[in-house]
Amino acid sequence: MPKNIFSSWKSEVGRNLKPQILPKPYQHIFFDLDRTLWHFEENSKKVLLDIFNDFELSKHIEFEDDFIQQYYIFNDLLWERYRENKIEKDELRSERFNLTLKHFKVINSKLADEIGNYYVEHSPLQTILLPYTIEVLTYLSTKYKLHIITNGFEEIQHIKLRTCKIDHFFNQLIFSEKVGVKKPHPLIFKKAIKNAGATIKNSIMIGDDYYADIYGAQRVKMDSIYFNFRQIEHNYPVEKEISCLSELMELL
Ligand SMILES: [Mg+2]
Repeated sequence: MPKNIFSSWKSEVGRNLKPQILPKPYQHIFFDLDRTLWHFEENSKKVLLDIFNDFELSKHIEFEDDFIQQYYIFNDLLWERYRENKIEKDELRSERFNLTLKHFKVINSKLADEIGNYYVEHSPLQTILLPYTIEVLTYLSTKYKLHIITNGFEEIQHIKLRTCKIDHFFNQLIFSEKVGVKKPHPLIFKKAIKNAGATIKNSIMIGDDYYADIYGAQRVKMDSIYFNFRQIEHNYPVEKEISCLSELMELL
């Protein structure tokens, strides 16, 4: 008896509740680095705890978690201003600890500078990666050319990649500092595609930041996968979403 088309369609729908990206001949995968492969929160927390102890901040601040949370608030705020070209790199680096200390009534710009330098020196030496980073990069690198597009500072990102021993997986590293614009500006995606010898159609972007990575890719009509590892609720118009990097081994 001929198969009922409708029931066959229904069973397909039932099996695939999640929308899937149609198989496309991708050849190039562009990754974001911070919070996509390199575990920013865990690495940063480790260095901030060292700072709290080594610089004896307990003399001024009762709880180390308060110091860390307050730092994140100012750091995020300043990064947003940096991304919008409202402040320069130097101001971002010096002000984030200055404002944090001031919040706890510690007015000492020399101490803020020393802490700032310590952070910049030690943070990129941390090696905690998001779960499955090595497995996924090992798998994908046999099938695709892998690249990085990052708004992070060039000298810092190079150290992170080398220290974590994942630099060899990537063909092209594209830094916003070099291109002169930051994600989500279309120019950085176009430049990345050109440098990699790729095309929009055979490329896909993977990142944790909807605005910088996904909206940025969408602006140049590049496919993308939103890596929502914190599983935040949202209404972003994303084509595809994952919460663990290991899902990439099924999708790509
Ligand atoms: Mg990121």
